[in-house]
Amino acid sequence: MTPTASTQPAAGRHPALTAADPDLAALVDAEERLQAETLRLIPSENYVSAAVLEASGTVLQNKYSEGYPGRRYYEGQQNIDRVETLAVDRAKALFGVEHANVQPYSGSPANLAVYLAFARPGDTVMGMALPMGGHLTHGWGVSATGTWFRGVQYGVRHEDGLIDFDQVRDLALKERPKVIFCGGTALPRTIDFAAFGEIAREAGAVLVADVAHIAGLIAGGAHPSPVPYADVISTTTHKTLRGPRGAMLMSREEHAKALDKAVFPGLQGGPHNQTTAAIAVALKEAAQPSFRTYAHAVVANAKALAEALLARGFDLVSGGTDNHLILMDLTPKEVPGKIAAKALDRAGIVVNHNTVPYDTRKPFDPSGIRIGTPSLTSRGLDVTHMPQLADWIARAVTAADKADEPALKTIRAEVADLMSAYPAPGLPL
Ligand SMILES: *Cc1c(COP(=O)(O)O)cnc(C)c1O
Repeated sequence: MTPTASTQPAAGRHPALTAADPDLAALVDAEERLQAETLRLIPSENYVSAAVLEASGTVLQNKYSEGYPGRRYYEGQQNIDRVETLAVDRAKALFGVEHANVQPYSGSPANLAVYLAFARPGDTVMGMALPMGGHLTHGWGVSATGTWFRGVQYGVRHEDGLIDFDQVRDLALKERPKVIFCGGTALPRTIDFAAFGEIAREAGAVLVADVAHIAGLIAGGAHPSPVPYADVISTTTHKTLRGPRGAMLMSREEHAKALDKAVFPGLQGGPHNQTTAAIAVALKEAAQPSFRTYAHAVVANAKALAEALLARGFDLVSGGTDNHLILMDLTPKEVPGKIAAKALDRAGIVVNHNTVPYDTRKPFDPSGIRIGTPSLTSRGLDVTHMPQLADWIARAVTAADKADEPALKTIRAEVADLMSAYPAPGLPL
């Protein structure tokens, strides 16, 4: 691809990259513009700060550090050991845990390490079914976790979209899984960690709270913490926590050795030190009072957006939200989720199509879309903007139904106009 005038990077933004590889630089620049001009409503995405971005692009990239601080297989760890120790200490302080491992490459490998620590191939493991809002790595069939282990799956009730704890308990006591996962990717409601803790104890299972989506809300006091109830806490660092793409495993001291051994040498080689550094920076940011404000604003925005969508006749799974995420069932609107999501994308509103519980459509062409407020909150939008957002979503879904491209184009311009007043962290003005 040849950069055109409109994709020419801003002078000085990536000088070395632009000189060495102008095609790639132009793509980065185009992505910066896309992220600046659009309304990003994907609940697992966010904008990291300029400081996090800088930390992840440092010479820490150049260093091999297999092992853990003070116990490495390579020399020259004078600085790297301190970087990782900073990240670990900050994670422990922020979440109030005895042990933290900051080396998992991402959320899926972090969960694999948990299986490696507590189960053997063929063992029974339990998690929420993917189409109900669970994650692939919670024992779903197509995942390694559902292939190497015997995955048994719980769901939500048809009537109200909430977890049925009687069903979870019955299943756990019948199947006696080694590991129970709670948490998910499309759960709009508070997770009752205490209820899961009690069931896991009764069943003799290790309880893993996978808080990938809500770690930032927990850190900011906008969602209850799993720390008193879960044996292991698994989280990505790049969703509501607003750090680089990475993950952490946390636990009480009793599980420290098993988890560390599973991550390295069990599953991984050298840690990504530039990511560890950026995690340390993000954790420092998450300990500031402003992060608490952000976490509570994420939830307030989601609640306000849910209300505005309900007022416009949309059907929301569980009737609303307690967290950062809204799951919308478009069945009553007679617009498939994928068609709606693609139309919204053309209107500058970025969401993803998603199955809804008991979906009658196929997973690659489901009935719902998933909407989240972390990114827009990081840009400073507040509850007063949510009726406008709901209007745009309603107009775009109607336009999708009628294949009205001019209407989508009009919305796109209106969105870009609003977003230009709310510069995103880490992006050029
Ligand atoms: C995002 C997510 C993961 C996986 O994270 P990746 O970094 O994409 O591998 C695991 N569990 C849950 C609940 C998630 O939301």
